[in-house]
Parts: sequence; structure tokens; C-alpha cells
Amino acid sequence: MPLRLFNTLSGKIEEFRPLADNQVRMYACGPTVYDYGHIGNFRTFIAVDVLRRFLRQSGYQVRHVMNITDVDDKIIRNSARDGVSVRQYTAKYEKAFLEDTETLNIERPQLVRATDHIQHMAQFIASLEKKGFAYRAEDGSYYFRIAKFPDYGKLSKKDFAGMEDGARVDVDEYDKDNARDFALWKAPKPGEAFWETPIGRGRPGWHIECSVMSMGELGETFDLHAGGEDLIFPHHENEIAQSEAMTGKPFVHFWFHARFLLVEGEKMSKSLGNFFTPRDLVLKGHKPSSIRYLLASVPYRNQLNFTFSGLKQAAESVERLRTFTLRLTTERFPEGSGESMSDLAKETIERMRAGLQDDLNTAQAQGAIFEMVRKANAAADAGQMRKDDVAPLLCAVEKFDEIFAVLKDDDQPKIQRVLDWAEMEGKLKEASQEVIAAANTQQLSDAKVEKKISEMEQARRARNFKHSDAIRAELNAAGIVVEITKDGARWRRK
Ligand code: AMP
Ligand code: ZN
Repeated sequence: MPLRLFNTLSGKIEEFRPLADNQVRMYACGPTVYDYGHIGNFRTFIAVDVLRRFLRQSGYQVRHVMNITDVDDKIIRNSARDGVSVRQYTAKYEKAFLEDTETLNIERPQLVRATDHIQHMAQFIASLEKKGFAYRAEDGSYYFRIAKFPDYGKLSKKDFAGMEDGARVDVDEYDKDNARDFALWKAPKPGEAFWETPIGRGRPGWHIECSVMSMGELGETFDLHAGGEDLIFPHHENEIAQSEAMTGKPFVHFWFHARFLLVEGEKMSKSLGNFFTPRDLVLKGHKPSSIRYLLASVPYRNQLNFTFSGLKQAAESVERLRTFTLRLTTERFPEGSGESMSDLAKETIERMRAGLQDDLNTAQAQGAIFEMVRKANAAADAGQMRKDDVAPLLCAVEKFDEIFAVLKDDDQPKIQRVLDWAEMEGKLKEASQEVIAAANTQQLSDAKVEKKISEMEQARRARNFKHSDAIRAELNAAGIVVEITKDGARWRRK
């Protein structure tokens, strides 16, 4: 069965198939690097990452391009305010964005920077002007003439007929009632950064950047274009107008939009004090894997309300899966196989797949794996698990983690990196005690832990429980959980 996805352009769920061969060409609007990314941004980026991983798991090759918006109204304003160049201003946030995506196990797309393509944008605008879709204003700015493009509004489903011809808007972001000729190119105001180009001095508008870079990398028509729901209008509507006016061909087959994230039931805003970046959360003691798990847990078109209790539950879910994997890989089971476990694993893989094929129903996929864990644990507790059952169960867990990417126990170095950053920025006082303690566990290498564990086991064998308990407590304080099983002790980091 093919993947079924909601397409904002048709307003329906459709079967997704690439336009050519086995390769999916997709473009996602990336961050505007004027500040740190917040968890709302990362909800959208994780939704796209889940899509990308699932397409690959389904056998497609994925060519995934993402832009870095390193020039726009806010960037121009802030860099002028700070008296630095645009590149100097954005470099810090671009680096932070790349680190955050790594922290959240988001696979890195091919990245394209707006400021590396200014000349292409100027050429594109010159061609639009030749075709009659763009015009130059008195101050040297260029605008797109939306009255020349009758399909304007087809993505946002808004009827713009009767709109005043020639009315203009020159800010990058504006609301639905403000459909006017939009800026393709902005002439510099005194003191503002600009580029020299054949169409004059200035800088591109935000929308032109994505049309030029997406078609430049992926061709005039490609498979899928993604972003958060706020981008439907005006950004994506304007991209369609610019691109289709230029080529006369359909620009994009599927439009994929993730619903906005709420925090504790409200829109995120600095004034409400509910504005969180992944860094803030890691500093408060939350693991990167819990954040990723939570952000992926609600299907991308449903409302996701981020709460701290949800984050705690996400952490517990990840721990349960990690403990289950540890159990399967360390416990000694009798030879042979119990039929029902491999069937259970197979069914689980099918249920996860069916969920994800249904417009990326991540909740169903998570539900399926937990049902498997519950049944398999019960079987193991009842002594019914056999040696040959382990591989198929682990295979189901592996398939799950190819999409959700939360099980490899790689939180520690990421936490350490956030702490290093906090120290540099003078924010270490915001770090919770837990996170500092967790970072200290780094200092205990695997070899040292193993040594302590064998010392502990020796003490136990000698029935010196006082000593073995003391070692266990010491390890626990260093963030190492020790579990005693009939096959001996096994351990993991908290
Ligand atoms: P920006 O850096 O503002 O250009 O946004 C980068 C991406 O994050 C875009 O795809 C936005 O649509 C998306 N985005 C911004 N805020 C939220 C939010 N609260 N929930 C989900 N996605 C968001
Ligand atoms: Zn874009």
C-alpha cells in the first residue's frame, strides 16, 4: 500500500508517489536565523524528518533540500542595530540551529543559504519583469503583480478577486487580508545592507529566495514542499505565483504543512514566559530523546500541546523501550523459539507501517511498539521467551527507531554540549541540579563502570552486602542504574 498524505493544495488525502522514478525530491522551508530556534520550529522540522525517514524506509531515495534564511527584514534590522554584517549576525544562529538539529537527531538535509544565491534571485526577478509579472517601483524595489496571476490564492483557498490592482505590501510577513503586490526585491534604506546586482542595489524579499533555490536544486516541478501551517499564506502562495509565472508549469505536487505547536494550551510567546528552545529544556534537565519523542508523538496535522507532564511521560516511554532492548540483549533465554513472539514482532512492524502510511500517524506507530513491549515482557516474565525470539523483536524495535530515533543512548554528549554553551553564554545558573549531575556521569568511563560492577558482584558473592550496596549507591549517584537479574548485574546510564 502506498503512503497516503494530506495535500494542502487539493485539500485532500492523496496517494503519494514520486513524479519520476524512485526518487523523492522535497524542499522544506528552513529557519530564519535571527534567533535560536524554538520547540515549535522543531515540531515542524521533526515532522519533516519523520516523513523523510519513512520515505526512505519505504524504499525511496530522498533528495531533501532546506534553505537557511539568512537575510530578511528582522535580520537586516538586528544586524544594523548591532553594527555587524549580516553574515556575522546570522553565523551564530546558523551554528546553533545545526547543533540543535543534531541534538534532536534530525537528519541533515542539503542546506542552501539565501545569501549565496542573491545573483540568481536578481536574474529571476529580471525574467519575471520581462514576462510582465514584475515591475519596478520608483525607489528601485521590485514587486510581483498578482493581478497577472489568476491562480493566486489556490493554496490558501482565498478569493482575492476584486483586490485593488497595484496596491503593494513590502514587509515579508503579513496577514491574509493583506493580499497585495508583494516585494520581490527591496531597495536599501539608508544604513541598510545591500547587494550590487544587474537589477540594482538591494536585497531579495523572503519569498523569492525559496522559489529560486528550490527550483535551482530540484527542478521546475518537484514532489513535495514542506513547512509549518503559518507559511501557507503568504509565503507559499507567493512561491507558487513566482515559480509558476516563470515556468508556466506546476511548481510542486504535494504541499505538506505541520500544525502549530501550543505550549500548556497557549500560543508560545516570550511575554507569556512559555517560550522554550530545545536548549532551555536540556538545561532544565530534560533529555534530547524525550523532547524528540514528545514532538513526534502527535500526528503532524493534529494539535500538539506541549506540557511538562507530557515531557515526563515521553522520558518514561523512551526509558521503557531502552530497558526492554537491554533486557533482550542481556538476559539469557532458553534455546529455541516460541512461535507467538515472531508473529507478534511481524504484526507490530505491519501495524507501525500501516499507521505511518496513514498520513504519518505516529501515535499509532508508538502505540504498536508499546503493545509489543508489554506482551513480550509478560512472556519473558512467565519464562516463555526463547533465544530465537530475540532477533525478530529487536528487529521491530529497530524499525521503530529508524523513524523515531530515540533509542541510541547518545543523550550524554549532547547534554554536555548544551552545558558548554550555557557556560560560554553565562547561563549556567539556569541549569538544573539534575543536568549538572547527569553531565558529571560522563567522567565515569564504561571501563570504570564495568570494574565497579565486577567489584560489586564479588562483594555480593562474598555476601558482603553492605559493600555491594555502597558501590551500587555510588554508581547511582554518578547516574548509572544497576539492575540485578538472575543472570548477574547489568547497567545503563540514566
Ligand atoms: P521561522 O524560523 O520562523 O522561519 O520558522 C521555521 C519553521 O518553523 C517554519 O516552517 C515555520 O512554519 C515553523 N514554525 C514556527 N512556529 C511554529 C510553531 N509554533 N509550531 C510549529 N511550527 C512552527
Ligand atoms: Zn520558504
